[in-house]
Amino acid sequence: CLGNIKERGKAVNAYISVEDRDYLQQQASEAQTRWLKGQSKSVLDGVPIAIKDNICTERMKTTCGSKMLQDFQSPYDATVIKLLRKAGALIIAKANMDQFGMGSANVYSHFGHVNNPQNTDGHFHLSMESLPSHKRSAGGSSGGSAAAVASDLCFAALGSDTGGSVRLPASYCGVVGFKPSYGRISRRGLVAYANSLDTIGILTKDVADVELLYGILSKYDNQDPTSMLPDLRERIEQEFAQHYDDLDQDSLKGIRIGIPQEYRVQELNESIVNIWEAGIRQLKELGAEIVPISLPHTQYALPAYYILALAEASSNLARFDGMRYGYSDDNQESDLLYADTRTEGFGSEVKRRIMMGTFVLSSGLYEEHFLPAQKLRRLVQQDFNDVFSLPNPLLENAVADLNNMKKVHAILTPSAISTAPSINSSIPEADNPKHHSKIKAVDAFVNDVMTVPASLAGIPAITVPGGVSRVDGWPVGLQLLSQYGDERTLLHIANQFQ
Ligand code: GLN
Repeated sequence: CLGNIKERGKAVNAYISVEDRDYLQQQASEAQTRWLKGQSKSVLDGVPIAIKDNICTERMKTTCGSKMLQDFQSPYDATVIKLLRKAGALIIAKANMDQFGMGSANVYSHFGHVNNPQNTDGHFHLSMESLPSHKRSAGGSSGGSAAAVASDLCFAALGSDTGGSVRLPASYCGVVGFKPSYGRISRRGLVAYANSLDTIGILTKDVADVELLYGILSKYDNQDPTSMLPDLRERIEQEFAQHYDDLDQDSLKGIRIGIPQEYRVQELNESIVNIWEAGIRQLKELGAEIVPISLPHTQYALPAYYILALAEASSNLARFDGMRYGYSDDNQESDLLYADTRTEGFGSEVKRRIMMGTFVLSSGLYEEHFLPAQKLRRLVQQDFNDVFSLPNPLLENAVADLNNMKKVHAILTPSAISTAPSINSSIPEADNPKHHSKIKAVDAFVNDVMTVPASLAGIPAITVPGGVSRVDGWPVGLQLLSQYGDERTLLHIANQFQ
């Protein structure tokens, strides 16, 4: 990996910090000795993992992709980092990202854009300098994590997924991106964007590798008040046991997969529809039964998400005030420390979002925007509960409906409405007036239309490579979704489907 970083690290720009070489080599040789003695700490002992730069690590900086935290050194390791280190994994680098997780194309990083390492012929695009106008986005906000996995700068990477930030870059870069149920993996040490939606996700080249990392990270954490309680974890295993016993190891026999008509949105490229249809055929060949389903409130998910996420963000980001930690404007002449720090420290998109978030929370508008968005979130959740055959374990009195042929174990949709957009077309006019871009910052929001419903519902979701577009030859992912807490069925299907 270090060799690959040297060779193509700059061109891809996936990393903000790379761990000290001597330290890594020392760790790697200790791991090797353990393996040779048959005393490895876990399957991940000595395996290099990259970490999105909004997850706190004691070593290396934690910048959140922003000038605001460009020199920030966390005093502690996030719980996921502790678990990885305990398993012997090597934390190789901190991955580039859209500032504070806000964005879909990784063009909002203080440390430069991430370049999509795929080429149209499926090979790495190593001479990107020569073709700046053809550079494609790696997706965001975990673009560095996805590009690092795709170009072999690490074995696997952690990202964060609030509204699709693991699944969208995975789709654009042709890798696997998994977002667990809300609360499954500890958020302690993940810098908050929108707490009620934030999850830590996993990016790898295949589903079996996701399972390895998930096995290590899916633990109750008493330092995260939103961590799924041990009782609930056990109850899910017990309540779903009958269904898990019935899973066929070599096929998808007995599995029903829903195809929601509402995901066929106007913006969905025809070439993506073709890949979706090919995915449906493949599932049938594997023995699954395909069931047309309806999730009637899907169209409200995107606006509801962008009201709720921004409202939460505007409150979370209030802590960056120039006094406690991070960037501080040191202009002695000015007595506006708070305003100056935030004006200079935050990037343009973050400032736009703080303003929109504050706006929807202001008195009068709260009732008009925020409360309806909360209600719509419930309706989106309800849509999913209505179609899944397994009950939502968070709801009292919910019962399994395993034999109802209209209900499904999982849902298949595209992960994105298009293949990776060009970087130029992803930079809004407001940030690049010279460039004559007609794009408004809000135009980018539509790229999240496939991923935000699962985030609002807190259910697990995974992007697996679906194929390449007939039009431009670039990869696109297909997304599988399952009931809250039912990662097992999701990964079981994804494993055979990939
Ligand atoms: N693109 C979405 C946003 O900007 C999702 C981001 C994320 O999941 N962190 O809010």
